[in-house]
Amino acid sequence: MRGTELLANAVASSMEEHVRFGGVIPEIAARAHLEEFLPTLQQALDTAGVTLDDLDAIAVTSGPGLAGALMVGVAGAKALALAAGKPLYGLNHLVAHVGVGVLDEVRTAVPPAASGARPAGVVLSPEPTGLPESLGALLVSGGHTEILQVNRLTTDVTLLGSTIDDAAGEAYDKVARLLGAGYPGGPVIDRLAQQGDPKAFRFPRGLSAPKFVGSAEEPGKHRHNWSFSGLKTAVARCVEQFEAAGVPEEQIPTADIAASFQEAVADVITAKAVRACTEHGITHLLLGGGVAANSRLRSLLAERCADAGIGLTVPPVRLCTDNGAMVAALGAQLVADGVAPSSLDFAADPGQPVESISLVA
Ligand code: ATP
Ligand code: FE
Repeated sequence: MRGTELLANAVASSMEEHVRFGGVIPEIAARAHLEEFLPTLQQALDTAGVTLDDLDAIAVTSGPGLAGALMVGVAGAKALALAAGKPLYGLNHLVAHVGVGVLDEVRTAVPPAASGARPAGVVLSPEPTGLPESLGALLVSGGHTEILQVNRLTTDVTLLGSTIDDAAGEAYDKVARLLGAGYPGGPVIDRLAQQGDPKAFRFPRGLSAPKFVGSAEEPGKHRHNWSFSGLKTAVARCVEQFEAAGVPEEQIPTADIAASFQEAVADVITAKAVRACTEHGITHLLLGGGVAANSRLRSLLAERCADAGIGLTVPPVRLCTDNGAMVAALGAQLVADGVAPSSLDFAADPGQPVESISLVA
């Protein structure tokens, strides 16, 4: 990173190995981090044309995530920081997912399929983060589904709502398994859904009943929360009904089921996110997380934000799923905002809450 300009983004993935098991195996992930740490770092430095000496600071994910993988990253980053004499920031993976929106190439991109091709709309004022004041963030990832009010990206975010059970990404992975569509669930369902009819089945939009939502004056307990476990069960029942009726496996309309499931996910996520923004005076939304790569979610969110007069920043797909650029982007903002670096005795925190943006100790 140089300011908000991304110089290099080297990504190593152990996905091929996880595909063999149909899910992430923590031990394999941690080992892969260890093996790839130095080669990937070197690749990023080479691409950027810099050395460790040239850096102002180092940033690493301290949490949340899988303990083993986090520990490898944190230990490696501490060793680098000590050896090179650089300040170190242990920062939040979730805030980084949405913070990737500060990158020049993301800010200036046009949101997908927004009618009238309105520009992404985050206008950077000179210093320090230059983000609009009433900013929100929608995080939809493998393990989290959250809507945040971002008072200041580097120091102050509040959780407005979240899933009360599965994350959207988990629902994708589970439904893909149910349909025998493969792993990881998100991309395979997204692809399968392109050939299906999103109106073929009406699957439930969790926590959308009036008793959960309430009204603006008297908000229900789950007004801004999501639930995806009922949706997953409804998909399972749908498949079972075809099986019970003796429909041969290859004749089950998996593309229609996938498209209808995807529509339910995109509908309920975007409806609730836009409502939360409207009620909290949020005029610009940052989207982030692996599920933000989803084609229907991107187009429906662009449409609904445009209708509600909310500006939207949508990262390109390669910056939605886990990557180093998002960590560097948030790290550079922490430096620019003058936030104190982390002291070297901080530990990886697998359950780090989203309000904890960077670690002090
Ligand atoms: P977290 O960030 O919550 O800790 P994570 O880092 O494991 O979770 P991410 O890389 O942020 O996960 O996102 C991975 C998730 O994104 C997976 O569940 C995957 O199925 C989902 N995903 C990827 N591409 C798509 C897509 N096109 N549509 C829907 N989901 C997708
Ligand atoms: Fe992630």
